[in-house]
Amino acid sequence: MAAELRGSDGLIAVDHAIPYSEKVIHNRKMTIVPFTEQARQVRVREMLRLAGLRPTQQRLSLGALLFSGQDRHFTAEQLHDEARRAGIPVSVATVYNTLHQFTHAGLLREVLVDGSKAHFDTNTSPHHHFLFEDGSLMDIPASQIEVLGLPDPPAGAVVRRIDILVHLAKPKR
Ligand SMILES: [Zn+2]
Repeated sequence: MAAELRGSDGLIAVDHAIPYSEKVIHNRKMTIVPFTEQARQVRVREMLRLAGLRPTQQRLSLGALLFSGQDRHFTAEQLHDEARRAGIPVSVATVYNTLHQFTHAGLLREVLVDGSKAHFDTNTSPHHHFLFEDGSLMDIPASQIEVLGLPDPPAGAVVRRIDILVHLAKPKR
């Protein structure tokens, strides 16, 4: 479970894999408490600040839904449904705009999948994907795919990154 590391003087760090309920850092004993809604907002506010985005209510609310500690893939429509269930009053257009702002600021990555819908990913580090028939995605660590024999890029261009999408189907009987 995602946990915060909290000192007597406030939030110190967020760690997604701390198996202990207490930790000693620099001779201070820290208690680890589960994520609270308030702690999540503090964290999202800090993420927005670091990304150079103004912490509007919509960005804070959608960010709190997205950056809950677990990496995930989603479409704007899925996030819009989630926001409505959580009682956040936003339109699909606002969700789209916010997601593109987050993407340009480096908080999200857009995954190009066949079809018309944009897919977003909270994991912005280099990695690849399995694509299931139902349109859902699963991460493949970058270290598990080796690209051999890449052609030289055309003159005046450099390779910025390589995204591999492995399309899955049910096995034929
Ligand atoms: Zn991913």
